[in-house]
Parts: sequence; C-alpha cells; structure tokens
Amino acid sequence: MLDNSARQVKQIINYDRVMIYRFAEDGHGEVVAEAKNDNLGSWLGLHYPASDIPKQARELYKHNFTRLIADVHSIPAKILTAADNEQPLDLTPSQLRAVSPIHIQYLKNMGVSSSFSISLIYKKELWGLIACHNYSPRFIDFKARESSKLIGQILSSALEFRQDEENHQQTQTFKSAVDQLSKYLLKTFSIEDALTKQDVTILNAVDAEGAVLVYENNIIKLGSTPNDEQLEKLIVWINSTLGATFHYTNHLSSVYPESAEYQDVASGLMISVLSREMNEYVLWFKPERIQTIKWAGNPEKPVELNTNGMMMISPRNSFEEWIETVSGTSVNWSNEEIKSAARLREEITYAINQKAGAIRQLNEKLKLAYEELDTFSFTISHDLKNPLSTIKSYSQILSRNGNLEPKAQQIMDRIIVGADKMNVMINEVLGYSRLGRSEIQVSKIEMRPIIDDLIRDLLIAYNSPDVKITIGDTPDIYGDPVMINQVFANLISNAIKYSIPSGHPEISIQGEATETSVVYKISDNGIGIDIQYLPKVFELFNRMDNARDIEGSGVGLSIVKRIIDKHKGKIWVDSKLNKGSTFYVEFFNG
Ligand code: ADP
Repeated sequence: MLDNSARQVKQIINYDRVMIYRFAEDGHGEVVAEAKNDNLGSWLGLHYPASDIPKQARELYKHNFTRLIADVHSIPAKILTAADNEQPLDLTPSQLRAVSPIHIQYLKNMGVSSSFSISLIYKKELWGLIACHNYSPRFIDFKARESSKLIGQILSSALEFRQDEENHQQTQTFKSAVDQLSKYLLKTFSIEDALTKQDVTILNAVDAEGAVLVYENNIIKLGSTPNDEQLEKLIVWINSTLGATFHYTNHLSSVYPESAEYQDVASGLMISVLSREMNEYVLWFKPERIQTIKWAGNPEKPVELNTNGMMMISPRNSFEEWIETVSGTSVNWSNEEIKSAARLREEITYAINQKAGAIRQLNEKLKLAYEELDTFSFTISHDLKNPLSTIKSYSQILSRNGNLEPKAQQIMDRIIVGADKMNVMINEVLGYSRLGRSEIQVSKIEMRPIIDDLIRDLLIAYNSPDVKITIGDTPDIYGDPVMINQVFANLISNAIKYSIPSGHPEISIQGEATETSVVYKISDNGIGIDIQYLPKVFELFNRMDNARDIEGSGVGLSIVKRIIDKHKGKIWVDSKLNKGSTFYVEFFNG
C-alpha cells in the first residue's frame, strides 16, 4: 500500500525521489517506502533524528496537508505591513509562504533543489509524510498538488482503517482471554489455579513471552521469565520503588540496572499491582529485541559550531549512513495490551474481594452455628435434668418400699445407677457448653496449693491412697483460676484413673518456666492410648476402646482443650499403649 502510494505520487509530480516517512513515538522518522529514479541510491530503512523536523514544523503539517518548495535557491520577498503597529500577517495557511532558512539550508546540504510533502494523518496526529525531492527546481501545479493530496488522504484513511482493524483483532484476542480468566476466577476456588493452571492463563491476556503471578507468598512462573532469585530481588525493588497500581517499560535495565543480566528475557516489563500491602502482583515480560538502526548521519550531532566557535542551530550536513545497535529494549507495550492488563486487574481484585467476602460470611455462619450448638446443648442438658431427677426419685421411692421382687429390685438399682451416671454426664456437658460462653478472668495463679488440694480430693474420690505421686517444680501460671483448676482436675484425675489398673500407679507432675511460656507435664504409667487415636482424644465424647471398663464420659479432655484454647495456649499428648501417657499444657506469658 505504501509502495503503491509512493509510485502514484511520483507519477503525478514526476520528482526524482518520493519517500514515505513514518514518525516514531520519540519523534524520529524512518523511510518505510520509496519510489526513485534508478540512478539514485536508496534511502529505504534510513532513520532521521527528531531534530530534523522541529516541533513547530510538525504542527504546521497537521494544518496544511501539502507543502511545496519549488526552488530552494529562489529569493523570498518580504511582506510589509501597512503600518508599524499592525500585527504581522498570519501566513500559516498560505501555500506561497517562504520556509525557515534553516530548513532551506538542510535541503541544500542534501543537494535537493525542490521539495514537496504531503501529510499522512492518523487519528488527527501526524503519522508520517510523503516526502518528495527533486535535484533540480521543479514547480508542481495546483492540479498535481491536489491529486497528490488526495492520494495522501486516501492513504491516511487506509492506514487508519488497517490500524483499527489490527487493534480490533488484538483487542478481541485479549478480551476473550480475560473473559475466560474471569470465568475461571468465579468458578475455581483458588485464584492461582484460575490464573495459571487452565488452558488460558495470564500469559494470554497480553502479547508477552513470560508472566509471573506473585500471590499469597507464592511465585508462579509461566513462559520465559527471570529465575526465582532474580524475581525475588525484582519484587523487592518493585515494592520499594513503585507507587501506583500500574507500570510498564520496554527498557527495564534503564530504570532497574540489575535487570541487565537477564535482559534477554525481560527487557520489557509490565506490572499490575494487586495489593501493595500484601506484595501481590502480576508481572509480564517481553524479551529483548536487538535493533540495528541505520541513521542518515549521526543523530547525536544536530548542533554544530559556528566558524567563530559559537554554538548555533544549524541543519546537519552529513547524511552518511550511521549505524546504531540498540539493545536492552523490547517491543513496546501497545495500548491494547495496557487496557487488557488493566481489565484483568479489575477482574482479579473483584474475585479476591468476592472470595474474602465469602470467607468472612462463612466465618460468621460458623460462629453463629457454634453459638447455636452451645445454646442447644446447654438447653437440652438443662431440660433433661428435671425428668431425670423424676426418674431417680420415683425409682428410689419404689426401691425403698422394700416390697419388690429380687429381680425387680435389681432392675430398680440399675435404673438409679444409670440415672446418676446420666446426671454426671449432663453436668459435664453443661460445664462444657457453659465454657463456650464465659470470658476468662486472668490473674496470677500459684499452682502448688491447687495441685496439692486436687490430689488430696482425687485420691479420696478414687479410693486409692497407694498411688505414688511425684510433684516437681510448680511455676505460676497466668490464667483464669477456676478454669485452670478444671484443667488440672481433669488431667490429674485421668492420670490416677487410667493408671490404677497397672497395679502400682505412679504419677508425676512437673512444671517448667521458659522465657516465653510455662509448660506443665502430667505423666502416668497407666493403660496408655493407641497411637492412631492420639489426635482424637480431645474430641467430645471420644473414649478409647481400652478405657471401656473405666468410668468416664469422654467430656473431660474436650473441656481441657476448650480452656487451653481460650487461654491461647497449647495442649498435646505423648503415649504408649500399656506403658503410660504424658499430657503437656503450655501457657504463654503476657
Ligand atoms: P473420660 O476420662 O471421662 O472418658 P476424657 O475426655 O477425660 O474422658 O478422656 C477421653 C479419653 O481419652 C478417655 O476415655 C481415655 O480413653 C483417654 N485418656 C484420657 N486420659 C488418659 C490417660 N491418662 N491414660 C490413658 N488414656 C487416657
């Protein structure tokens, strides 16, 4: 399309050389198409520095679509205003206006006698020029100028159409990728799985070779990316340097020199910040694209020294090919890519918020369910007490009457024992559910007297004075005195109860204070607990098979665990079947 347009224009105006010149973002230009006389060397692919066409000149090209300098050697005539105080005439739209002497000099330096240009406009901006040179003066008449202008306009709209089409295609590709990702985000529970483990990943949301998801302290890499160590350092740099939510560069090593060592995979970087506080990002990488730019003359030297040594603005006079190799840069991030990354960011943050909300809701529900369960078990156990005591009282009346047959008497006795057992269990459940509601009242607790009292009472209760009990250090604990009493009552009572069958029960109670906590250890040489059941001993109503013949309700250790949890402490157990058990409770200071 460009070549054709150059040829058409050359045919109409019959100039020696017709070039299509395209401006880059930084203002420099490149010859992208050319139609020329055979005897002339080609300028195709040459680059011209931005300073060759000053900004004002560029602005004018947007207003006047054609510009003819029929003869660079013609002498311009001055236009005089009638009176001194009158504004100078605005010649912006004039076709016959003289051009800047610097530009004339520039053309002369090139050996050009006539120059004609046609603006190429894309979305109201100067996309490029059809620049025409003739090496002898040649005037172009109005009709030919208008025809060339028409070609320029057709080319401009064709460019616009093509570019829009390309952008549209890119937009569509990225859009469908982001649509797909957002579906995964809403469907799959984990954000990482949704973004990195499916057919479509974050890598498809832009045109990058590598992508990294930094989320919940994980770094997930896709495609070609820097290695873990390099990424970790890069993330630290991102976190400490960049403020906003979005960044991109096609020359990473210019802002973060350390990245030079992996510029082959990461010259281009786009960063989408998901959460700065949590250090969570999506990163995309573009590889280095080594470019060889052929400049028409050294672009670094647009300013030259005057004969008297003064610096002056002067057009270049060397157009010798000057080659520059540009490294460390990638292809630019397009607007479509930036928009796509921004949209993806919205989708991800939406999903994260949704999930956080869902978890919060679940937590709330769980809390309510727990409270309801506590209330429920409290009410049930409470209400059971009345009918139970009725059963017991009437059984006792019947039993005391003494006129029951021996078999019936036996049954009645068992009813009374059963009712008593049930009463104990109800009281324990009540105690357990009451714990759920009560707040802890922390104070410093001196442990030795508590332990002594407990042992005295328990030995009487179990009617086993011959248990050998060793008491070691008993450091103070900070906790709720009533609850801590319950903890030790349960643990010591279990130790006695489950060691009696051993025949020579031995129990030791030993506390140890460290800088941060106090650990109490209660050991016995009793029946022990099968290792496979160890994790279950703290669950409500869980009793081990080997404890069947020993009285108990399976509530005590659940109460202990609940109390320890309330104190933000720890409890664990070590045990060997038929050898004995050791229960540990740890209370943290402060
Ligand atoms: P209970 O003793 O009333 O059955 P707990 O909740 O105190 O209920 O204990 C739960 C279960 O853990 C007991 O039934 C028993 O099987 C086991 N257990 C607890 N302490 C010991 C211990 N010191 N030695 C052996 N088994 C124990």
